[in-house]
Amino acid sequence: MAKVLIIGAGGVGNVVTQKCAQLPDVFSEILLASRTKEKCDRIAAATPHPAITTAQVDADQVPELVALINDFQPELVINVALPYQDLPIMDACLATGVNYLDTANYEPPDEAKFEYKWQWNYHERFKQAGIMAVLGCGFDPGVTGVFAAHALKHHFDEIHYLDIVDCNAGDHGHPFATNFNPEINIREITQPGKYYENSTWLEVEPFSVHRPIDYPAIGKKESYLLYHEELESLVKHIPTIKRARFWMTFSESYLTHLRVLENVGLTSIEPIEYEGQQIVPLQFLKAVLPTPSSLGENYEGQTSIGCHIRGLKNGKPQSYYIYNNCDHAAAYQELGAQAVAYTTGVPAMLGAMLMLTGKWQGEGVFNVEQLDPDPFLEKLGTYGLEWHESVNDSNEFTD
Ligand code: NDP
Repeated sequence: MAKVLIIGAGGVGNVVTQKCAQLPDVFSEILLASRTKEKCDRIAAATPHPAITTAQVDADQVPELVALINDFQPELVINVALPYQDLPIMDACLATGVNYLDTANYEPPDEAKFEYKWQWNYHERFKQAGIMAVLGCGFDPGVTGVFAAHALKHHFDEIHYLDIVDCNAGDHGHPFATNFNPEINIREITQPGKYYENSTWLEVEPFSVHRPIDYPAIGKKESYLLYHEELESLVKHIPTIKRARFWMTFSESYLTHLRVLENVGLTSIEPIEYEGQQIVPLQFLKAVLPTPSSLGENYEGQTSIGCHIRGLKNGKPQSYYIYNNCDHAAAYQELGAQAVAYTTGVPAMLGAMLMLTGKWQGEGVFNVEQLDPDPFLEKLGTYGLEWHESVNDSNEFTD
């Protein structure tokens, strides 16, 4: 029985809140707080739970957060606002002695750059305070790290090659929309691609490296090498990795739209003067695109995200694939959400549950692959994300 404070009332906040509410024995009181209280109220009204309340908070302001936490006295804060709020929320957790969990690593608002260094810097202070922070507990990052930890614990003595593959084969009927916060999403995918090989990070032009990848129950889809945050933590925590890459599918139409938006300057984060006001073009673009949480209603098709791994077991080469497929329409039917929000919110709830029930314990700042994958994967299917694995029949990656 524990009180939990959830910050952020977007697509992911909706899923986390509803999923926590399905387990009132663990999450006995829920406070959902965000910048716009009406959004929290709408989610709370659709969420059956005996003790759910809402609040307004500006999570960039540490004193506001501290006051809210002191008033509600939660055991854990689940941060599903934006990556910009990670550090102020961690500061507030430190000031109040409360545990922390998020789904995306910090990035500074004025520079499209995400790195774990800022949050890893909190390790000693969280340790001293006797509290735990779990970073990146969505799907990717999140489940992908747990998949890698499971592979290492049960199927490999050494992992050498890791390819994380992320396919969204869904169709929402809009010519162009992003599946989570457009500003964060477009900042992420327009960066140079980056991957790890033989202890070095190698950069490539955005979208310049691509290949068709076969996804279970979907088929072959063109997939593009991107930099993704879990690569940084996975090569640190699994040091036998020789190469780690991340691949994501994009349709030709999506890439054409993105190219045009880039060419006309709408993906820029440099402020411009517009009718006497400073505006950030990418934030303006976000305002005119469909909100990701509104995409669910007519969304059809599946997502498929997994890890292709090669390495050694008992001195012999072994290959392995572990993945989840999630159906957009099924996610909408259960929670009124699309699959990208669903696959992020379910792991966040599950990580929170493991922290509150003592199955994941520690003092300091942790990435999910540092924690025991067994209790997580025992329950992941029960809460809506079935996973599958195959040993030595994956030949998707031989290079
Ligand atoms: P949304 O934009 O839909 O929601 C973000 C929410 O945070 C909104 O309710 C917003 O408020 C609130 N917020 C923003 N700034 C503040 C602030 N200063 N104070 C308080 N609340 C604030 O995003 P998503 O739900 O799509 O994504 C949420 C998080 O999940 C993001 O960090 C994203 O990167 C991460 N994510 C992780 C994935 C993974 O697999 N690991 C995959 C997908 C997303 P308002 O309503 O007023 O705008």
